[in-house]
Amino acid sequence: MASPIPKKAKKVAIIGAGISGILACKHALEKGFDPIVFEARSCIGGVWCSTIDSTRLQTPKEYFEFSDFAWPDSVVEAFPDHNQVLDYVRSYAVRFEVVPRIRFSSKVTALDYCLSFVDDDDGGDGGGGDWRLWGGSGEAFSCKGKWSVVVEDVLQPLQPPMVYEMDFVILCIGKFSDVPNVPDFAPSIRALFDGEVLHSMNYAAMDKIQAAKFTENKRVVVVGFQKSAADTATEIAKNNGPKHPCTLLFRRVHWAGSEDMIKFTLRNLTRFSELMVHKPAEGLILWFLALLLSPLRWIFSKLVECYLRWIYPLNKYNMVPEHSFLKQICSCMFMILPRDFYGRVREGSLILRKSNAVGFYGKGLLLDGGTSRLETDVVIFATGYKSDEKIAGIFSSLEFKKCITGSSAPFYRECKHPRISQLAILGYSEGPATLFTFEMRSKWLAHFLAGKFRLPPVAEMEANVRRWDANARRYSCENYKRACVGVMLQLHCNDEICRDIGSNPKRKKWFFSEIFSPYHPTDYADL
Ligand SMILES: Cc1cc2nc3c(=O)[nH]c(=O)nc-3n(C[C@H](O)[C@H](O)[C@H](O)COP(=O)(O)OP(=O)(O)OC[C@H]3O[C@@H](n4cnc5c(N)ncnc54)[C@H](O)[C@@H]3O)c2cc1C
Repeated sequence: MASPIPKKAKKVAIIGAGISGILACKHALEKGFDPIVFEARSCIGGVWCSTIDSTRLQTPKEYFEFSDFAWPDSVVEAFPDHNQVLDYVRSYAVRFEVVPRIRFSSKVTALDYCLSFVDDDDGGDGGGGDWRLWGGSGEAFSCKGKWSVVVEDVLQPLQPPMVYEMDFVILCIGKFSDVPNVPDFAPSIRALFDGEVLHSMNYAAMDKIQAAKFTENKRVVVVGFQKSAADTATEIAKNNGPKHPCTLLFRRVHWAGSEDMIKFTLRNLTRFSELMVHKPAEGLILWFLALLLSPLRWIFSKLVECYLRWIYPLNKYNMVPEHSFLKQICSCMFMILPRDFYGRVREGSLILRKSNAVGFYGKGLLLDGGTSRLETDVVIFATGYKSDEKIAGIFSSLEFKKCITGSSAPFYRECKHPRISQLAILGYSEGPATLFTFEMRSKWLAHFLAGKFRLPPVAEMEANVRRWDANARRYSCENYKRACVGVMLQLHCNDEICRDIGSNPKRKKWFFSEIFSPYHPTDYADL
């Protein structure tokens, strides 16, 4: 066990008051720390403060639930809407006294690690301990280093920024906001187009009436095929009707399902289903079992594919993906289609079009390598976010920027970069239920801050990260994002967290429920 920490004396900064920031703060408070949360906006809840009106949770609520704070009885829907999610998250922040810790309208513009940072490659001591260990000691805090957190008052941007010295920083700045990923058209090409071009985050920032007015009687093209693209296009199709159909333009078709199907999938993610997939650093028995059960894995994937082809007219609209359903979920790229998606397609208010947008011309977009044209008044890019650029951008040091850029999230236990000490990053690992994923890591982090365990040497953490990455790539699509808790291995990840903390990973009372029933956040309430 690491040395006991004088908690009140240690300064912990949390950046962001979305779900991950709220969780980080709640668990740090529980361990006796006195954290400050810097939040750029004037509200809590992060992305749930500004979504499009039709957004609902796409995870059944029993998996998207705080382990010790149930959804209120008034929420009877299995998939609550965005207002209900926001109310729930806010009530949690109030109940666990997180709100008084938040400094609103406080944007962190830079993070600087002060004092000697010695390259651990030399294995030297550097005066701060053994730098082959994280932070010199493998512990959360180090007396040799501190973070300078530069904070700008968003309401008074002309005021000089405040600088805070912190012993530990938890970055919770979110993955789906702020730095849009938009195809790189030269300004001269974009200038050719007479219409309007925006990112889905700008559309989401409009209220319901503004958004409807903005697209009213206009031809709109939404580019992308992930959740925000499907939601945005369906909403516009509903508002505009077949007279001004909305086009959903995408490069590649993905498996997208119904609410029933996601419930079925999550119910079947059990210890037994985990035996069907290989694990990083598994022994011979687990390796053999995964091999033996691999036909079941295949059958599961095919059954779901057949079901989706049965409930949706995928053949009719040429919407059958080339890859398997298993690859889709293992890449953390699964979405629930809006309830009326194919209804809108049938009535002609939503047009599905497969192509790359390669450029603009005066009246619209050039498609199919420039050989065809699509007339439009508005183009909305729902093409995601550059999340690693966003994290990299907050560090002053080029060294830390380099650690992050281009690698999405090579994190140990999905929240710590092995070479950036006294700092953790929460909210970058995706999973079927992000709240569950974030909460498990917040618990782990709070135990680490409290000195319950030490981290292994940097080289060991890096090897662990490489093993997880290689294992995830085995099952996922080629454009797999690294920052993703293996959907099929959620329990295995949670077991590692429990073992680090010194708790029993087997949390069910009976043998059969341990093997065959799914785990919920509530199973980890006492962690
Ligand atoms: C439309 C939408 C629907 C989703 N639906 C689901 C779902 O159904 N199921 C699921 O599991 N996941 C879903 N997600 C994933 C979602 O990202 C998580 O559910 C979760 O809300 C993310 O929380 P977060 O705290 O990590 O990030 P965010 O919610 O993005 O919060 C980050 C916060 O940090 C603040 N911030 C950023 N930079 C700074 C800075 N420099 N200084 C100070 N503050 C800063 C932001 O203002 C923001 O408040 C959805 C995401 C979106 C966008």
